[in-house]
Amino acid sequence: MSLLVVGSIAYDTVETPFGKVEDSLGGSALYFSAAASLFGPVNVVGVVGSDFDASKISFLKKRGVNLDGLYMESGKTFRWGGRYYEDMNKRETLFTYLNVFERFQPRIPEEYRHSEYVFLANIDPELQLKVLEQIQKPKLVVLDTMNFWINGKRAQLQTVLKRSDIIVVNDEEAREMTGEFNLIKAIKRIVEYGPKSVIVKKGEHGAMLYQDGKFFFAPAFPLEKVVDPTGAGDSFAGGFMGYLAKTDKTDFANLKKAIIYGSTIASFNVEDFSFNRLKTLTMEEIEQRVELFKELTAF
Ligand code: AMP
Repeated sequence: MSLLVVGSIAYDTVETPFGKVEDSLGGSALYFSAAASLFGPVNVVGVVGSDFDASKISFLKKRGVNLDGLYMESGKTFRWGGRYYEDMNKRETLFTYLNVFERFQPRIPEEYRHSEYVFLANIDPELQLKVLEQIQKPKLVVLDTMNFWINGKRAQLQTVLKRSDIIVVNDEEAREMTGEFNLIKAIKRIVEYGPKSVIVKKGEHGAMLYQDGKFFFAPAFPLEKVVDPTGAGDSFAGGFMGYLAKTDKTDFANLKKAIIYGSTIASFNVEDFSFNRLKTLTMEEIEQRVELFKELTAF
């Protein structure tokens, strides 16, 4: 399997009703890799500042994450701050300091250029395009984005959409992208922009897949305590793509299974801050929860 992710590597400051962490490890590329590496190797492309403590990501190296595409530039690492309240489906961004990300130009190492599965995490669509230009014939391109780019770089985002097979968005982003409030109409409009399949993440209400006129709904795992939702979207994407890359099948039936694996890993991730839960997560624990997922939906 060859799986590539380009995205942020961050120091996050996060406050939830269960506590606060400051400058803890985060970023879309790392949450994705921590999840996907449970299935097989992952190639990471990203940038950190000279203040980055590489020993913090040694657990990823041990799991087969290739960090040859992780560049260290002079300056500070990307920083993000967010706060969650009782309703964990909504979050408030307190600050975003791009720092070294501001001048980042992704260079894909030679050995990554044949990656078959590519995840373009939520970064500037211009950078996402630069990544695609350096990859030879990927089998599956999955795209993530956010309101900031939907509003700020719509034309560039449209170009990336044309070259993507699957887009992962939340319901708010799907509405903002299309101007359609009805989610089904919004999904069908997004397909006209380019991607064959659309995944809509609905936080504690699960995820929804659309492809070729067919829908699939997956619930979120019922948890009594969500400690920190940060990285739920990226660990979902990591589990989803890790499973696809490992099984090397992209038909609708396999996409459905991949969504269950993605949802399972995301449900573990939110049980603790930062990577505290993903660090120790095992395939055995994942399989046990996947079985519970089956019982949740079988009738
Ligand atoms: P998620 O909760 O899955 O949407 O992703 C959370 C991660 O995204 C955090 O660890 C942040 O460091 C990172 N993040 C937040 N805003 C941005 C942004 N504008 N660009 C790149 N990464 C971001």
